Amino acid sequence: MRDDVLARLASNTAARERERLRRRLRDIERVEGSYVWLNGKRLLSFCGNDYLGLSQHASVVAALRGADVAGSGSAHLIGGHRREHAALEEALAEWTGRERALLFSTGYMANLGSLQALLGDGDLCVQDKLNHACLLDGAALSGATLLRYVHADVDSAARQLRSHADAPALLATDGVFSMDGDTAPLAALAQLCTAEQATLMVDDAHGLGVIGPDGAGSVAGAGLGQDQVPVLMATLGKALGCFGAFVAGSADLIDGLTQFARPYIYTTAMPPALAAAALSAVGVARTESWRRERLTALIARFRTGAAQLGLPLMPSSTAIQPLLLGDAAAALDLAGQLEREGFLVTAIRPPTVPKGKARLRITLSALHEEAQVDRLLDALAGERLTGHL
Ligand code: PMP
Repeated sequence: MRDDVLARLASNTAARERERLRRRLRDIERVEGSYVWLNGKRLLSFCGNDYLGLSQHASVVAALRGADVAGSGSAHLIGGHRREHAALEEALAEWTGRERALLFSTGYMANLGSLQALLGDGDLCVQDKLNHACLLDGAALSGATLLRYVHADVDSAARQLRSHADAPALLATDGVFSMDGDTAPLAALAQLCTAEQATLMVDDAHGLGVIGPDGAGSVAGAGLGQDQVPVLMATLGKALGCFGAFVAGSADLIDGLTQFARPYIYTTAMPPALAAAALSAVGVARTESWRRERLTALIARFRTGAAQLGLPLMPSSTAIQPLLLGDAAAALDLAGQLEREGFLVTAIRPPTVPKGKARLRITLSALHEEAQVDRLLDALAGERLTGHL
């Protein structure tokens, strides 16, 4: 007799509930600066990825509102590709120092599409153990052999590459790790890939806008160009405050993705309004460097304060500043306690992070005031005293 797939799903969900790993949606009612309203209560949020505060920038929102249509009407190759998309692609290519860029509807799809187009059976895909889920899923979709290496460990990556010395190979890494906030050793990985004739792909979802000259991202920050990092992916939904993603690289790469990346070809193009908003956000991100400076100062303030309190900080110098709790229930309880005190900080639990590595993923934004960071530190100090942290 067959198993009932719906019953099995329900049973898996019930197991999550028992282990305090069940996810729940919260309906945010309103956003204003660094505050959100939830169940009628105003909470100071430290869990978004809007690192520069651009989702609320007047020019970005005005660009979004200026559209003539709500949707693009079809896929890029069928008639949905508009001048707004082309202008954004040009701006992204110029900013990241690549020949061309190609928009995808989401970062998830950009990674699936790139890996599926570049790799196939018999190929090797080597990835950092802590890479984002969509890079791992992209490798699975491609049919290549996926080997993971010890987090940020170049020797371990080298061993994995050398284990299949004759297979066409691609090494993929996050630039900034989404749940840890630390950065990949990009220069060393680039050297390794050159020596091993492997292609390097970087997912810079959390680096673009925040790191590097002009906010051009972690790859530019590491002094690497298109030759060393031929496949650069980043998203528009984090520091740029919008939605969507892109891959940047050589004209040949972009041509090939346009032909073969199924998540690009068979999906509706992003609304032109969003492309216009993202184009405006690129301009703001490049020119308003005070946002990066302010973010850097807030990160330093938080880290100094947290270190003085003896909080379990993880080694991160980016806007992602997780506090490691370990136990999923403890992380959930602490997030609940902070919410009662007026803060929104999300507990991140397995399987998003490894078992025993549950954490509070605190994120900072140029929207925060110094006094707000101090308030969070005060609240965390209180939790320390009561033994919750
Ligand atoms: N890569 C990384 C490193 C991410 O953190 C995310 C978003 N969580 C994605 C890719 C996916 O991007 P999107 O949300 O646009 O699908």
